[in-house]
Amino acid sequence: MTHNNYHVVIIGGGGTGIATMYDLCLRGFKVTLIEKGELTSGTTGRHHGQLHCGARYAMGDKNIAKECMEESAILRKIAPNAIEYNMGMFVALSDDDMQYKENFIQSCLNAGIPAKEIPTSLAFEYEKNLNQNIKASVLVPDGTIDPWRLAISFAAGALKTGNATIKTYHQVISINKKSNNIESVTVINHITNKKEIIKADAFINAGGPFSGNIAKLADIDIPVSPSPGTMLAIKKRISNMVVSRLHKAGDGDIVVPQRQLTIIGSTQWISDNPDINRVPQKDIEFLTNAAIEIFPCFKDYEYHTAWAAARPLYGKHNNSEEVRNLSRDFEAIDHEQTDNIKNMISIVGGKATTLRGMGEVVSDLLCKKISLDIKGKTSEIILPHYREYYRGGYNGQSN
Ligand SMILES: Cc1cc2nc3c(=O)[nH]c(=O)nc-3n(C[C@H](O)[C@H](O)[C@H](O)COP(=O)(O)OP(=O)(O)OC[C@H]3O[C@@H](n4cnc5c(N)ncnc54)[C@H](O)[C@@H]3O)c2cc1C
Repeated sequence: MTHNNYHVVIIGGGGTGIATMYDLCLRGFKVTLIEKGELTSGTTGRHHGQLHCGARYAMGDKNIAKECMEESAILRKIAPNAIEYNMGMFVALSDDDMQYKENFIQSCLNAGIPAKEIPTSLAFEYEKNLNQNIKASVLVPDGTIDPWRLAISFAAGALKTGNATIKTYHQVISINKKSNNIESVTVINHITNKKEIIKADAFINAGGPFSGNIAKLADIDIPVSPSPGTMLAIKKRISNMVVSRLHKAGDGDIVVPQRQLTIIGSTQWISDNPDINRVPQKDIEFLTNAAIEIFPCFKDYEYHTAWAAARPLYGKHNNSEEVRNLSRDFEAIDHEQTDNIKNMISIVGGKATTLRGMGEVVSDLLCKKISLDIKGKTSEIILPHYREYYRGGYNGQSN
């Protein structure tokens, strides 16, 4: 079959939806992306900005660790204007951290991540503000992402193909089925308050932590757990690298240098509502103290802000410990297989670091479903500069 007029609607303009749009547009599909706010106004615009090499997950979640390693290397190549490849350092501060070290390094190596212990004297040379009591340090190939620039570079790439339509400030309010097919979605334009029906051949739910709510519009239940966390920033860049605590992933153990700020994150709680508009007061004190443990000078700089966002974790949980143990991996769900709805796919879970890979997996699945043999090209093409998003036809107005 030919697919030049095959129209795909993607719901959700975070990194996942935008990268999926780019991939499908490059393969020649016509794509309409629908986003209820501005692009990246969900979790994508509000994470730490760590380019994960996967070391953080190597001990418990080898799959996502490997994916992060592969994807971070691809992003460094295709999105140089959105990435600062400044490396990462895991530091041990306690005897427990020291015990964790050997397994940690081996697990990283097993996942293909080149982790290497360095003398603490060298660690202090690299990071002069580090706590002088650190007992060990391990270098890994982490980095810093500018979350907005990265996602917008993908959007610029999609616009450049001429195959993309981006509808911001449009919210999908119903998914309209006829027997076991989705025919259209009804959207409301939040600027004009007008409703519109958009027909398509296939529909992709890329709603991140909102994907459970979107699936409900089609009477589908998908296992997604919105899991919010707080981050806090000071107005000073006090580290060169991403610095993490050398222990099992927990709260307040990642420090990310982001432009001229330093961000400490995060915390984790459970919420059915992915629209997070509050920061628990206790998180501010907790995160500040956690940062001071790693960088004592953190206390000397002006507080900038604290904010929260919800992780789109794939899986169900019964309590906060179970949610902490949920995988950071992602899954493309073919609703023909799970719910007998022929033309809808949900893409759930993952990290900002894996956005390109998620877009590729869901696009491969769609091609397979409609018996088209077109390979993805997104790992090979250097993305346009994020500024091309505005030059490329999108003028900041909702279409
Ligand atoms: C505290 C915290 C820290 C993190 N730190 C990192 C990090 O350092 N590095 C990293 O790689 N990852 C990190 N992550 C994970 C990463 O941020 C997410 O995995 C990623 O941003 C999810 O992107 P997404 O596009 O799937 O979801 P989102 O960005 O949330 O996009 C979904 C979009 O769907 C839209 N939407 C919802 N409902 C509708 C509707 N009905 N109609 C139209 N649009 C709709 C929303 O407005 C939203 O923009 C962190 C997450 C959290 C919570």
